[in-house]
Amino acid sequence: MAPMFELLKRDAHTKARLGRLTTPRGVIDTPAFMPVGTQGTVKALDPRELREAGAQIILGNTYHLNIRPGMDIIRAAGGLHRFMGWDGPILTDSGGFQVFSLAKIRKIKPHGVEFRSHVDGTLLFLGPKEAMEIQQALGSDIAMVFDDCPPHTSTPREVQAAVERTIRWAQECRAQPRAPAQLVFGIVQGGAHAPLREQCARAVTALGFDGYAIGGVSVGEPESEMMKAVEMTEPFLPSGQPRYAMGLGTPAQLAEMVARGVDMFDCVLPTRMARNGTAFTRKGTVIMKAAFNKTDFRPIEEGCDCFACRHFTRAYLRHLLNVDEILGVRMLSVHNVRLFLKLMLDIRTALAAGTFAELHRQIVANYVPSRKVLSARQNGVAR
Ligand SMILES: [Zn+2]
Repeated sequence: MAPMFELLKRDAHTKARLGRLTTPRGVIDTPAFMPVGTQGTVKALDPRELREAGAQIILGNTYHLNIRPGMDIIRAAGGLHRFMGWDGPILTDSGGFQVFSLAKIRKIKPHGVEFRSHVDGTLLFLGPKEAMEIQQALGSDIAMVFDDCPPHTSTPREVQAAVERTIRWAQECRAQPRAPAQLVFGIVQGGAHAPLREQCARAVTALGFDGYAIGGVSVGEPESEMMKAVEMTEPFLPSGQPRYAMGLGTPAQLAEMVARGVDMFDCVLPTRMARNGTAFTRKGTVIMKAAFNKTDFRPIEEGCDCFACRHFTRAYLRHLLNVDEILGVRMLSVHNVRLFLKLMLDIRTALAAGTFAELHRQIVANYVPSRKVLSARQNGVAR
């Protein structure tokens, strides 16, 4: 069998890497974007559309799926892949981020967190043991450790405590049983503090996971801080294993993170913004309902090969959104997800050809970020 992660090429000018992650359910070419299927579906898209968009792996979520439908139903269905009709790789988030951002925390205990469900207020407990048991039942191909993800407004002392907890919990996760062939990734916390990032990275990598995530980014901090957190962490991650920046970002931010040596990304932005009626393009976002699209009979983005751009015009999509027709949101989702996946494909092609530095420069120069998009990223609800 092929080694789990192969580093195929390093960029000569940046820290960007071309790689390939092999799982029994399929190969993931890196840098990779993973569409987010929090509740067992990538919102508004079916598995056939995800395949057509080029998705090689999608996300599921421990916190949400454990609350609804619950593990009894998932187990009876034969795992998450069968339940949702997606036979490709799935990465599951451990629920740490949701517990700390979404639930009403009652108490942080030595082996996890007692909290109230955001749905009906039921008292629940999630810790390293529970998170790994749930991910084992889900049968994901990549499981994440349960970590403490503090808000970016935390004091250094609070971040220090979160780092210590994250290390201890990573150790507890490491000792838990896994689903057959399931990979487990460690998570590095430490906020915007270089010594804490280093401490956490050294301790978590010493435990020997299959890959490493940079957590606590995209939690409401300014973009410069987000980039710094990655720069502070990356030197302490083993080069022979995949690196994953959680919950990122805009197309330009993805290119910036690739240039900083990150291999894997997930973000709710493409589907969430689609539901707000916003389309991504290489130049920024477009509000589809805007009057300037009234009689614009061009596709969302010239040259895009997605189903929406091949068949529909901006004027038609604007009309669908104005009369609340479901197809409008579905087609924006198809386009947005394809845009993110095509961006990563173009990045991989450029890395193979040795032209990534030029593409990176172009992507960042062409993309004009919008404030609305940057703030939409920070809400943990649909992650
Ligand atoms: Zn398109």
